[in-house]
Amino acid sequence: MAVEPDLKIELGKQGVFVTTLNELYNWGRRNSVWPMQFGLACCAIEMIATTMARYDLARFGAEVFRPSPRQADLMIISGTVTKKMAPQVVRLYNQMAEPRYVIAMGACAISGGPFKQGYNVLKGIDRYIPVDVHIPGCPPRPEALIHAFMTLQKRIEEQPLTGENRPRHLDADAQGLFP
Ligand code: SF4
Repeated sequence: MAVEPDLKIELGKQGVFVTTLNELYNWGRRNSVWPMQFGLACCAIEMIATTMARYDLARFGAEVFRPSPRQADLMIISGTVTKKMAPQVVRLYNQMAEPRYVIAMGACAISGGPFKQGYNVLKGIDRYIPVDVHIPGCPPRPEALIHAFMTLQKRIEEQPLTGENRPRHLDADAQGLFP
């Protein structure tokens, strides 16, 4: 049961802290997102810059990028997804811990970007895995990635307690898309 915001403020004035288990759980979740450590093209340079001291992604509780999908719950698609790479991206997504999240960073990840006329580039990763936040730009600046991260945190706040356990996505090669 949600607690009325006015009641919360009133109780807060009297030194009483009220919350729900769901809110507490999501507070922890949104402040401890574990991004996966991988980059696909030039957008990855901006992603790396976001974690450095100037932009300091650590302020949002997500400074530790994990090299294993088993230890990560956020995938940042930072660059061009070629058709050869797509099955691996989908496989990594399927191996991530749940609830898991995806940010599509840059024009390439969203639509193929400057390479969309090419025979070897995907026209958007969201055709194969669910994307929570899209960031336009070529490349998006670190500020844009931070904004996307804050948008994702807002979405996590509204999650049910059990999380949004998304179904495993079909492997791209299993769909016959990438022979
Ligand atoms: Fe590179 Fe632009 Fe594509 Fe990002 S969107 S990977 S900067 S070409």
